[in-house]
Amino acid sequence: MFDALIVTKDDEGKTSAAITQISEDQLPDGDVLVAVEYTTVNYKDGLCMSPGGGGLVRNYPHVPGIDFAGTVEASSDPRYKAGDKVVLTGWRVGEAHWGGYAQKARVKADWLVPLPAGLDARQAMAVGTAGFTSMLSVMALEDHGIKSGPVLVTGAAGGVGSVAVAILANLGYEVAGVTGRPETADYLKSLGATQIVAREEINETVKRPLEGETWGGCIDAVGGAMLARVLGQMQYGASVASVGLAGGAGLPATVIPFLLRGVNLLGIDSVMQPYDNRLRAWERVAKDLPMDKLEAMVVPAKLSDLPKLTADILNGQVKGRVVVDVNA
Ligand code: NDP
Repeated sequence: MFDALIVTKDDEGKTSAAITQISEDQLPDGDVLVAVEYTTVNYKDGLCMSPGGGGLVRNYPHVPGIDFAGTVEASSDPRYKAGDKVVLTGWRVGEAHWGGYAQKARVKADWLVPLPAGLDARQAMAVGTAGFTSMLSVMALEDHGIKSGPVLVTGAAGGVGSVAVAILANLGYEVAGVTGRPETADYLKSLGATQIVAREEINETVKRPLEGETWGGCIDAVGGAMLARVLGQMQYGASVASVGLAGGAGLPATVIPFLLRGVNLLGIDSVMQPYDNRLRAWERVAKDLPMDKLEAMVVPAKLSDLPKLTADILNGQVKGRVVVDVNA
């Protein structure tokens, strides 16, 4: 028997979460049984744990947790054997398939990636889906060419933002972080941001479709009015990696930045990334993300902290990356 955070739904559709002892035969089908060591809190986990599952959860009772890292306990797939260290992100785990908020998980071998050299399970979850997506975003910006001028990161003090700032600064880019929490300025500077931009300076309705050419690239975790405004501030031919919608799913923009400045809007999806891309991104994380900076982002937690922390992330109140030791 082992601990799992199980979310149930009653006849009136009300959901509630409780740590429950379950057995391996209650886990869903899969090729690989993993002893989960660490999981984390991403924005999507906040949605999955919210009343009604945020429209994402496909089955109840459910074990949320869209990512985890741990050690293979048993495998019917030749690619993995007992003792291998693995990490999982995406593939609707924690939404359609039971996820990482438990001491064990059973999943398809295709969804896993071996932990790259240089990263342990705790560090992998300090990165988690949010940080992995930051790496995918950096890679997308590089593929399209980062222009001169600072690279802007929106939602900078959050999970995606913090890791993006640290990776970009380590790669030698000048990084500007947009935050609505001025008290995080020192934290963002410690990760390598050289400029802090107040959220209200950017997060307002587009007044003119084009403004001064300011940013050489952008990783946007916020969407909405902020993304619309940023599009008109990009350097000619620069790219915006659109990652998230913490500030809204609408896009009150015009087509002018695309037509007159050749701006690229790059959609980033971490969920359905093919194996080779996932492996490449995790290897780049191990190489390009300084571990001391990663450590500075960590908020340690245990399974019983998850109901509170998943609510906090939806309110923009989590700084950096929550790392949940499921055995604590
Ligand atoms: P966090 O909550 O950790 O960070 C989001 C940050 O956005 C907050 O910390 C805050 O930063 C800022 N923010 C929150 N609300 C608002 C608002 N109303 N207006 C402006 N800024 C706001 O979440 P994550 O970093 O984990 O995720 C960020 C987004 O990226 C989410 O929408 C998530 O779903 C998405 N995402 C997408 C992925 C993909 O595959 N495309 C994968 C992972 C995440 P600050 O306090 O600094 O202003």
